Amino acid sequence: MKLGLPELRICHLYPELMNIYGDRGNVIALVWRCRRRGWEARVTRLSLGEPIDPSRHDLFFIGGGQDREQMMVCEDLAGEKGEALRAAVEDGAALLSICGGYQLLGKRFLTCTGENLPGVSLFDAETVGGDTRFIGNVAVDCRLEGAESTLVGFENHSGRTRLGPGCRPLGRVIRGYGNNGEDGGEGCVYRHAIGTYLHGSLLPKNPRLADWLILRALRRRYQLEALPPLDDALEDAAHRAALDMVLREGKRPRLSPRRRLPSPR
Ligand code: GLN
Repeated sequence: MKLGLPELRICHLYPELMNIYGDRGNVIALVWRCRRRGWEARVTRLSLGEPIDPSRHDLFFIGGGQDREQMMVCEDLAGEKGEALRAAVEDGAALLSICGGYQLLGKRFLTCTGENLPGVSLFDAETVGGDTRFIGNVAVDCRLEGAESTLVGFENHSGRTRLGPGCRPLGRVIRGYGNNGEDGGEGCVYRHAIGTYLHGSLLPKNPRLADWLILRALRRRYQLEALPPLDDALEDAAHRAALDMVLREGKRPRLSPRRRLPSPR
């Protein structure tokens, strides 16, 4: 265990390919929350063809992306690179994956055009593309121990994700569709790894979840009971504004076959 001021080592995977609806803001929020505590945070960007050293990073991040980008990333994550990511999480590293990134960390993603993308199998989850998209603001009742709160964000996906017994949902949908629009689950958790459909960016307006990740990431190398609290007045106001908005919108109807859009090409 190290003494001295903690330094958070973040690995941002495929930043130029997997970054929609402000997903990069999650990395900015993580760095910001460390620096406000007087701690350092270092971001390493890794993309296609660049190997992962599981011991060099405390926290991994992968954002969302379209099916086309997901195909490139899927090929790149096959084999050793995916194994390295699994090894890091097994060793206690933290991870946040959003939407398209989340789908690729499951067992497989069958796109709505029939492409089979084998996943990293970090999460016991499978995703199948549907012929409608789940789009809109989301509120989630998050029961993650140490980060019990509502989560607010924005979803836009055709994939329906179903979890197996090897992981558990991040929370229950209050508004929105979540993993599949049917079972009420949103996202998944395995060890310190989180998958979620919530873009937004997610972490700037969900500071408890940001700190859950930072604490778990740092505990692997530093003796830390808890994080020093921050003044989150601004973050909490952003959270409340997003929550008020989604609650005002009311419940979205279930998609019936008649309301379905034509399948995207
Ligand atoms: N292409 C995936 C889907 O539509 C993921 C999209 C995303 O990351 N927003 O399900």
